[in-house]
Amino acid sequence: MEKLFLAADLGGTNLRMAAVDSVGTIVSRNRMSTPSDGKQEDIVSAILSVIAEFRRELAGKFDLAAFGAAMPAIVNSQAGIILRSPNLPELNDLDFEARFTRELGIPVVLENDANAAAVGERWKGAAKGVRNSIHVTLGTGVGGGIIIDGTLVRGIDGTAGEIGHIAVEPEGYPCGCGSQGCVEQYASATAIVRIAKELMPLHPETELHSSLELTPLDVFEAGMKGDRLSLEVFRVSGTYLGIALGGLVNVLNPEAIVIGGGVAAGWDLFIEPLQSEILRRAFQHPGERVKLMRSELGDDAGILGAAFLASQKIKA
Ligand SMILES: [Zn+2]
Repeated sequence: MEKLFLAADLGGTNLRMAAVDSVGTIVSRNRMSTPSDGKQEDIVSAILSVIAEFRRELAGKFDLAAFGAAMPAIVNSQAGIILRSPNLPELNDLDFEARFTRELGIPVVLENDANAAAVGERWKGAAKGVRNSIHVTLGTGVGGGIIIDGTLVRGIDGTAGEIGHIAVEPEGYPCGCGSQGCVEQYASATAIVRIAKELMPLHPETELHSSLELTPLDVFEAGMKGDRLSLEVFRVSGTYLGIALGGLVNVLNPEAIVIGGGVAAGWDLFIEPLQSEILRRAFQHPGERVKLMRSELGDDAGILGAAFLASQKIKA
């Protein structure tokens, strides 16, 4: 019977799941709101109920062989334990792999969402066939995943790849991680809005207004119409991201840097300052050869990466 892999993207807002075949085709999907009552058991039950639905739909036709989950958290992927989940703190310390292996009776793998996105883009997206790549997810935060010689870099505890927490400003804006001046504080969706508000007094001509509801999309749309404040925000943002990535280019000599996440929609506004900062800071040859690419898989990068990691788990 053909094998399928269950994959989940466990976000703070939505729980997205899919059943994926061994060549990366999504055979079935499901999506629900993440239970928000603060109870760990309710989230576990919600995931199990979606998997039960997949089993009802697909059992008999397919062998649901393994389960991979990606989540925006610091996870020990070797041990399959969630160390710290800022969006869903009720999941802190959950022994995810053991719990779901026991419930489902199939191999289970857990990975940080940005690491999973890096794997997904390498399997089916922009970095297909690329052996050395860096993946950056520009969303509410800034996630990162690093693939060297075809293998995800995990580190001793599985927490490697946190590009968002490279410091780019010594006395910069405080970060949720406990440090300050992290690139996440300059290049995330949250940062785009904050920087726009900070720079607003210098740009009385702007069409943006300092309302609480100002969104990154407002800043982007105004920038596309030539609003000088918005262009400045994306220039600042792209420059800081370029400082972090220029350093990584020197350290890792990647072939490609793939940029995804909601803020990647602002590509046309930040890519030039980002690239010129990489060229300014990196050694000439690695700086010129690294390709900057937009994510091809969008929201599915994490889910496909989780499915791929699940498929590797049964081979291991
Ligand atoms: Zn940080």
